[in-house]
Amino acid sequence: MILNTFNLQDKVAIVTGCNTGLGQGMAVGLAQAGCHIIGVNRSDATETQALIESLGRRFLGLHVDLARTEDIPGIIDKAVSEFGKIDILVNNAGIIRRNDAIDFSAQDWDDVMSVNLRTAFFMSQAVARQFIAQRSGGKIINIASMLSYQGGVRVPSYTASKSGLLGLTRLLANEWAHENINVNAIAPGYMETNNTEALRCDEQRSREILDRIPAARWGLPEDMMGSVVFLASRASDYVNGHSLAVDGGWLAR
Ligand code: NAD
Repeated sequence: MILNTFNLQDKVAIVTGCNTGLGQGMAVGLAQAGCHIIGVNRSDATETQALIESLGRRFLGLHVDLARTEDIPGIIDKAVSEFGKIDILVNNAGIIRRNDAIDFSAQDWDDVMSVNLRTAFFMSQAVARQFIAQRSGGKIINIASMLSYQGGVRVPSYTASKSGLLGLTRLLANEWAHENINVNAIAPGYMETNNTEALRCDEQRSREILDRIPAARWGLPEDMMGSVVFLASRASDYVNGHSLAVDGGWLAR
């Protein structure tokens, strides 16, 4: 029956950057649907671990700086030795740097591109190799942005990385669909997390943004749960290279 296809009982999901924000919301949503979670973070994900274990699911926390790709093989090895397999990858970790394009530094360019795009690609590659070795297929979900579709202002490396991530989502979907690997993206709108703290503290920008959101509120981490569970589940087996906006109608405006 259709609702059974959404069940993720005993699936194993890697979620990067899940100690807070949207990553935490998605990790908890996946755990509510039945997943065990491997959380990849720079620091302890104590709160997320407690939330997941309170659902009776297992949580393996790995300390990794995703600005570099050297530790990716270790993530795969630890996941497989602990759980025996990987079923789902959510490339969520991301950073943003704000400055006028005219003054933007090479450091702010490289830092953002490394985490948001380079590492997302090499994590996807490593997990896809594991999916192929398992002969299981699998699900990869990239966390894109409104700036995968729009230009934005004062965030050149962020816009480049998130626009690139949407293109990469389509390319990987094309190459791996025949391996039963679904690669899709979720594009969050304006959500209440650390990532948007500066925007929300700017009274004028905050009001301008809110006035433009048809749902008349900023999004919350729990708003991501339904979409990530759908894209991680058998219910989306014939959905490839799609980006699902969770934006309160921002793009429809
Ligand atoms: P956040 O800053 O609360 O969370 C970002 C997460 O990424 C944190 O867990 C952080 O520790 C992790 N991270 C960053 N750099 C890392 C590194 N080098 N190594 C390991 N982990 C690292 O922000 P968020 O809003 O929850 O962002 C989650 C994702 O959603 C990001 O990719 C962001 O670009 C995207 N996004 C957010 C919004 C929004 O409005 N908040 C909108 C669109 C897209």
